[in-house]
Amino acid sequence: MREIPHTMKTPVKILIVAALAVGVVAAVALKKGQPPAESGGAAQAQLSSASGGKPVAALPTGAKLPKLLDLGAGKCIPCKMMAPILEELKKEYAGRMEVVFVDVWKDPKAGKQYGVEMIPTQIFYDAEGKERFRHAGFYGKEDILAKWNELGVDLGGGKAPAGVIRDEPVKSDTRPRGRVCFMCDGDVNPKTRTVVKGQSEQRILCSPHCCFIYFSSLVGADPKAEDAKVSVTDWAGGSLVPAVAAHYLYGLDAKGRPTVKAFADKETAAKEQQGSPGNIVVWDVLRAKELATRCAFCDRAVYPEDACAVKFGATRGYGCCTHCSMGVAARLKQDIEVEAKDGLTGEPIRVKTLNGMIASLEPPTATAWFGQNKTPDGKWVSAGCFKQGFFANQENLKKWLDARPAMTGRQITIAQALADKMKLTPEQIAKACKLGECK
Ligand SMILES: [Zn+2]
Ligand SMILES: [Zn+2]
Repeated sequence: MREIPHTMKTPVKILIVAALAVGVVAAVALKKGQPPAESGGAAQAQLSSASGGKPVAALPTGAKLPKLLDLGAGKCIPCKMMAPILEELKKEYAGRMEVVFVDVWKDPKAGKQYGVEMIPTQIFYDAEGKERFRHAGFYGKEDILAKWNELGVDLGGGKAPAGVIRDEPVKSDTRPRGRVCFMCDGDVNPKTRTVVKGQSEQRILCSPHCCFIYFSSLVGADPKAEDAKVSVTDWAGGSLVPAVAAHYLYGLDAKGRPTVKAFADKETAAKEQQGSPGNIVVWDVLRAKELATRCAFCDRAVYPEDACAVKFGATRGYGCCTHCSMGVAARLKQDIEVEAKDGLTGEPIRVKTLNGMIASLEPPTATAWFGQNKTPDGKWVSAGCFKQGFFANQENLKKWLDARPAMTGRQITIAQALADKMKLTPEQIAKACKLGECK
């Protein structure tokens, strides 16, 4: 047992972690063992400096399993949020990991024994009883499992199967460039083909919709100048016409997703309208509709039907892709609730965050795919929004990949998808998903 410094002989100072944001530890002091009034808010940090280094508490001898020790209290809010997570881990990893909770308000000696300054504190011991890591504040289930994995501690049996990695395409993409959308990499429907004139080359887009996503990915562009560069395909005749001069039949498909058909003349559009209901609009109206809903992380235009719903406080927004939806927590520095759709089946995947970490994940087997491409010099770079996704389980991800032989990238945890966004600087967030910045 280490020497307790003189200043610690008075009632041990235990701090409750109310919120752990990047670089900020918010805590409230606990005086004389008196539980403070419940406070879910982020009180300002008053970190005790009474005891400096991290003490290493020994496990009782004879322990054979890795052990997760959570030191908390029944009434502190982050501790209460830990309780169901600990219960799940206890059940799911029975016989493979010991999960122990100690209430340091009921047992203040334990707080001293383990040198705990804040609650909750989680201490990770390997099977030899050696402390490997400790964490103060709420710690989500996925984050805990990811930490064990990072520590190289094998929890055996029920652990997630090894991640899927695809370094090389199963089949390379042999589609002619002119038939591949510059934005989404999808096939270009010849009836909705959209062309943007560039300095030297032209960009081929699958539809006017992708053209608006393209617009919303440009930095400092002049809308009028951009409009003038765009040509759309006449749905009836197949010829290219200037986008600003065309008429658009704006309807909805069976799923409520907008459909946009361009026509060189209004009469033909009106004829089409009889068999296929919708409004006939001009380019400026189409633009307003298309740009009405934006990704709350990267500002790209998005159809809500394609997007992830993101709730923050009382507000609802959208993430244009699953990974962007995690980024909303980073951009707004707020806890969020995301409802994403499985990339294969469309079934809902619900993620809640707390202080930049995963608080809950439904279903717990949900996983993520991070599409990446290798540059000629062998570096991995993000393959962009359209190559990312969440899946309810690894089986769905595998099936999805089977249908995409040209896809390269790797499986990551949803905790990782969130962590990747949380570490971005405000400057990186400002550049997020802009053309040429996706690296
Ligand atoms: Zn496209
Ligand atoms: Zn986005």
